[in-house]
Amino acid sequence: MPLAHPFDDDKLKEECGIFGVVGVADAANFVALGLHALQHRGQEAGGIVVHDAEHGFNSARRMGYVRDNFTSAELLQTLPGNIGIGHVRYSTAGNKGQTAIRDVQPFFGEFSMGGAAIAHNGNLTNAAALRRDLIDRGAIFQSSSDSECIIHLMARSMGRNIPDRMEEALRKAEGAFSVVAMTRTKLMGVRDPLGVRPLVLGKIGDGWALSSETCALDIIGAEFVREIEPGEMVVISAKDGVQSHFPFRRQEPRFCIFEQVYFSRPDSILSGRSVYETRRQIGVELAREAPVEADLVCPVPDSGTPAAIGFSHESGIPYGMGIIRNQYMGRTFIEPTDAIRNMGVRLKLNVNRALIAGKRIILVDDSVVRGTTTRKIKDMLLDAGAAEVHFRIASPPTAWPCFYGVDTPQREKLIAATMTEDEMREHLGVDSLRFISLDGLYRAAGHAEGRNNACPQFCDACFSGEYPIKPTDMIAKGFELKS
Ligand code: SF4
Repeated sequence: MPLAHPFDDDKLKEECGIFGVVGVADAANFVALGLHALQHRGQEAGGIVVHDAEHGFNSARRMGYVRDNFTSAELLQTLPGNIGIGHVRYSTAGNKGQTAIRDVQPFFGEFSMGGAAIAHNGNLTNAAALRRDLIDRGAIFQSSSDSECIIHLMARSMGRNIPDRMEEALRKAEGAFSVVAMTRTKLMGVRDPLGVRPLVLGKIGDGWALSSETCALDIIGAEFVREIEPGEMVVISAKDGVQSHFPFRRQEPRFCIFEQVYFSRPDSILSGRSVYETRRQIGVELAREAPVEADLVCPVPDSGTPAAIGFSHESGIPYGMGIIRNQYMGRTFIEPTDAIRNMGVRLKLNVNRALIAGKRIILVDDSVVRGTTTRKIKDMLLDAGAAEVHFRIASPPTAWPCFYGVDTPQREKLIAATMTEDEMREHLGVDSLRFISLDGLYRAAGHAEGRNNACPQFCDACFSGEYPIKPTDMIAKGFELKS
């Protein structure tokens, strides 16, 4: 399994990526490619389920990267069929950071009307209560994942067919979910009523694809058709095409704004806009809100890059690669010794001394979570001779945990939960520190009027503490909502 890198401690962890195709020969190849493009959404494990008439359902689940597990012809030959779904995982519930193979999706259930497999991106906020109830009624869970509840709820449903059972199961689920699922002949996709997590539809030849992000459609040569709408369920077959309906009570959408800032790939399209362009625009807004005299704008690579380009463009301060990322370090580094581990961020990032020595640097990063990395980067810049270091952050202070499918440290570990902006600046030892405002972020994401406080256009709970879906299980565990 790939090792976590020290640098990763200080970022929110992406959730999961889901992908499915129907009506294409060798579906497993397409699913593997799609999952490879979604690898940034989960690196701990991946799985694929396929079906064909002769061999029935087949599956493979592996720990680690897609490229290391799902590229061999030998394995892919064991996955025949023209319909398939897949999942890449970073555990957001169950055994966090210690994925066991039994927790790797897709999950599979055999029902009286045939088998079904599901892959889930998100987090059910009432999973503990559902699980308790299901176990009381005789369900035997195979995994620690909240997503398995959906299969058990389907098993107990009286629905006449699998799509009906899935619909009924998801009506009992609270929280954030984008789901792809399959029967022998049908590919299904569902988004929760608020549309917190993404899901898009693509067309490939005579077949169809569902994916967390459009970048995975590009890799298989599929045409992006549209987003699955919040609260929508699609049932797709090669024969009948896409059938859509809305089984949940309609609500105002609350898409995750952090997808715009960090989780999604910059080459994806979200809500009709390029993620790259939104991030570049965040830099523009940040330069207007928090200008500072300096000589050079540098990104913390790679996620700070588009915002740094926008900041530089708006401020007129030159852009430069003051920090270089070691592309081949990543999470696949051999098990580090303690001495190497203590080098922390230096293993992954290196300062471009010739460029920054003697200069006043504006460093643009996507977020500050614990603040540990920010401090180390500042030290590296000063060691290399920077005259001043000013941090500009492309998201508001992350002061609240996410319960919708993103791994966040406990609230007390979030630096912004315990310190004001001034205290953070002092603690981090930087010359200045500014975060984009919530309004500025909304403007950059395409809402010129800013945040509608009466009815926010996005989920921004990790910044605002306003949770659009009640985190039932966490409240039961003692979590206190903002008063
Ligand atoms: S709390 Fe933050 S990370 Fe979680 S869904 Fe909402 S905006 Fe996204």
